[in-house]
Amino acid sequence: MSSVDEKLQDLYDEVLRRNPGEVEFHQAVREVLLSLGPVVAKRPEYVDAAIVRRICEPERQIIFRVPWVDDAGRVQINRGFRVQFNSALGPFKGGLRFHPSVYLGIVKFLGFEQIFKNSLTGLPIGGAKGGSDFDPKGHSDAEVMRFCQSFMTELTRYIGEYTDVPAGDIGVGGREIGYLFGQYKRITSRYESGVLTGKGLTWGGSQVRKEATGYGTVYFVSEMLSAAGDSFDGKRVVVSGSGNVATYAIEKVHELGGTVVACSDSSGYVVDPSGVDVALLKEVKEVRRGRIAEYAEMRGNGVRFSDSGSIWDVACDIALPSATQNELNGADAVALVKNGCTIVAEGANMPATPEAIAVFEEAGVRFAPGKAANAGGVATSALEMQQNASRDSWTFEHTEDRLAEIMRGIHDRCAETADEFGTPGNYVAGANIAGFVRVADAMLALGV
Ligand code: GLU
Repeated sequence: MSSVDEKLQDLYDEVLRRNPGEVEFHQAVREVLLSLGPVVAKRPEYVDAAIVRRICEPERQIIFRVPWVDDAGRVQINRGFRVQFNSALGPFKGGLRFHPSVYLGIVKFLGFEQIFKNSLTGLPIGGAKGGSDFDPKGHSDAEVMRFCQSFMTELTRYIGEYTDVPAGDIGVGGREIGYLFGQYKRITSRYESGVLTGKGLTWGGSQVRKEATGYGTVYFVSEMLSAAGDSFDGKRVVVSGSGNVATYAIEKVHELGGTVVACSDSSGYVVDPSGVDVALLKEVKEVRRGRIAEYAEMRGNGVRFSDSGSIWDVACDIALPSATQNELNGADAVALVKNGCTIVAEGANMPATPEAIAVFEEAGVRFAPGKAANAGGVATSALEMQQNASRDSWTFEHTEDRLAEIMRGIHDRCAETADEFGTPGNYVAGANIAGFVRVADAMLALGV
């Protein structure tokens, strides 16, 4: 082990000691630190000036009680979080996740990833994440509203357009952002559009924001393909999930000439060999808030629903894991490789386990990490902030052009950085190093 690797290992051990039990956070830190050896060897000040140590410690962590009254008149209690990880590049920026699995370790992993993702976009946004263990599924609209109001009653004091700008993530879509924004406006008496992104189009939202994460992931893959003289034309694609990211990834794959043959939700997956019907998927998931099995029933002929086994057993050329963290393990990766998959890009945050990534690397599968491939969502949030700041609203075409240009920029930055540091084709190393350097240099400039 070189002395640089030893220093990085010591820093990782310190993260383990200081953050016991936060396994997802450990995993995210480990993945970044493993990539930093070559850049720290060239620029020892990143370790000597404690930049790496500082970057692993959030600037501020807020944990709060969220009391609310359910439809039966009972008081319910959830826990709210906001981890303001790093503001060297701009106001804290990152989504809110409402899901029963949410605890500090998940929020910290997501916030940590967000620092590098936001940096890679080239836009002026710091990194943060928040959320709650509240599950919007199974609650009435009125309960979701009361929960969001209570959540924002506390969060209000920590956010602002120059301070911290939350958005959506799993379990937080347009409906929740609406209730959150309404409460912020009520409490502060300010129509401060730039305090949240993912807003509706008539009240300060941006065109393409809803589609941006999924579209952006597909644009990223399109860049990977064209770098090798290839395209989506005729490619079979598997997209896990059927939420916001997956739905619009599927839409864009079809626009670019590929066919998405399977998608899923937490209850199972469907195989639809002639191509997933996006309009029907939206009807089932967005309008009815139903289960993916209903899609199979309504679509009929030739479509198979399965509630056992893995979606990664379905043969494809390209896989876009777009559901949640650690959904694609080593065995899944082996199955994908065996069935001929050559590109994997993460639409979700950290969906592939370290074992899966190792399998892909070994097999020569090109792998794009989420912090690069799914950065289109937050990038378009930054475009929404630009529009809010200038009291303007852009057309769909203009906004989508900007998104496509940003994704091309991220792709090229990752590819060039990987080349520069002696790991050509390694998008993980390219993304981690390029994302890190921009933040690290800003932190050096701003002093301790
Ligand atoms: N939750 C999204 C992400 O993982 C978007 C965050 C945002 O738009 O601020 O990047």
